[in-house]
Amino acid sequence: MKDIVPSPPPIVRNDVAAVQALFQQNVVPSYGRFDIVLSHGSGSYLYDITGRRYLDLGGGIAVSSLGHGHPAITEALVEQSRKVIHTSNYYYHEPQGRLAQALVSLIGPGKCFFCNSGVEANEGLFKLARKFGHDEGRFEVITTNNSFHGRTLAGIAATGQEKVKKGFDPMVPGFRQVPYNDLAAMRAALSPATAAIMVEGIQGEGGVMPASPDYLLGLRQLCDEKKLLLLMDSVQCGHFRTGRYQSFQRILEGVAGGEKFLPDGISMAKSLGGGFPIGAFWVRAPYADLLGPGSHGSTYGGSPLACAVALKILEVIQREKLEDNARQVGDYLKSGLQALAQKCPGVIQTVRGLGLMLGIELAPNIPNLPGDSSKSQAVRFANLLHAAGLLAIPAGAQIMRFLPPINLRQVEAEEGLKLIESVVARLAG
Ligand SMILES: *Cc1c(COP(=O)(O)O)cnc(C)c1O
Repeated sequence: MKDIVPSPPPIVRNDVAAVQALFQQNVVPSYGRFDIVLSHGSGSYLYDITGRRYLDLGGGIAVSSLGHGHPAITEALVEQSRKVIHTSNYYYHEPQGRLAQALVSLIGPGKCFFCNSGVEANEGLFKLARKFGHDEGRFEVITTNNSFHGRTLAGIAATGQEKVKKGFDPMVPGFRQVPYNDLAAMRAALSPATAAIMVEGIQGEGGVMPASPDYLLGLRQLCDEKKLLLLMDSVQCGHFRTGRYQSFQRILEGVAGGEKFLPDGISMAKSLGGGFPIGAFWVRAPYADLLGPGSHGSTYGGSPLACAVALKILEVIQREKLEDNARQVGDYLKSGLQALAQKCPGVIQTVRGLGLMLGIELAPNIPNLPGDSSKSQAVRFANLLHAAGLLAIPAGAQIMRFLPPINLRQVEAEEGLKLIESVVARLAG
């Protein structure tokens, strides 16, 4: 494989410790990282610099929607970069207009704004909510416990997890959390200052917790009644991962009134760009012009390059019917995990999720779980999966998430199940 970065002379090739030392000396240590130094990928597999192969069921946290090294993404990157990479938003260009059109036609009447990440998409929706409520003195956004909405100051204020807020007070005002899937708690929390509600269709970082159909329909009704914006953070659970374009569509399948359900705003990122940074929010038609000229912006947002990649991903998803694939392979993976949980209840307590957004909750105290006991069970379990040749993502202390490419093949899911089973069986011992 041709190296993209010129070969760096000071590092001995394949030297894990040398790369880690570069990080220790020069990179802000804000992440807990695993002892893996990745080199390249192909399809659903990643390779580390020692040549080890991993089945990537983490998908870079639900980002690598078409896997690694997909030729269509490479082609879009190369072709668009020959034309123009960046223009600024002082000007029009076709890729942004076409991507907005594609997203609007997937969701419903409204408009899109483009940015570069999930938290920026949420930030845009928070600003939309403030603009919406401004003349009535309303500004508050109610979110839920265990939610995750990103790492900026507003993002951590909106997030319902103490660990992301710790040490960063005072919090941006105007955010409060209530229990998830609890409509009565949401209703009770509303104040005259409330402008919007934001929830995830499936809580990702919170441990793969789907909203119930009644909750979603109830929130819609509550927002209509109280004139609030219903905002959905679809950064992780969106973009066909659940077997439908949006997780709420899958959750509400076959539920009376479900087909008509639409929130007022949806934030997107992660799978939208397949690894190329892009975020976006969609806002429903009545509110689509609330953010007028000069009210919001992003230098890089919706660049020709980012939009060309996102458009190409949509084209591949449609052509290869990856929505159906996510459903079928996801259902297969889920039933395999459920069978494993039934066989080894001392290791896997529950299996949750939809399509290719799945989580297993580990049993409280797995007796034979090796590793540093100061680390969470999820991290120690992840290390075992890594050693077996599989990547997965911890969520909280007890949950492992599987967020693979949505073009994951059935045989790869089968291989993944075998690898997970090898780890679980050993622990169940
Ligand atoms: C990842 C994530 C975000 C933040 O996205 P970034 O691109 O990291 O800013 C926000 N909300 C949810 C639900 C996420 O999973």
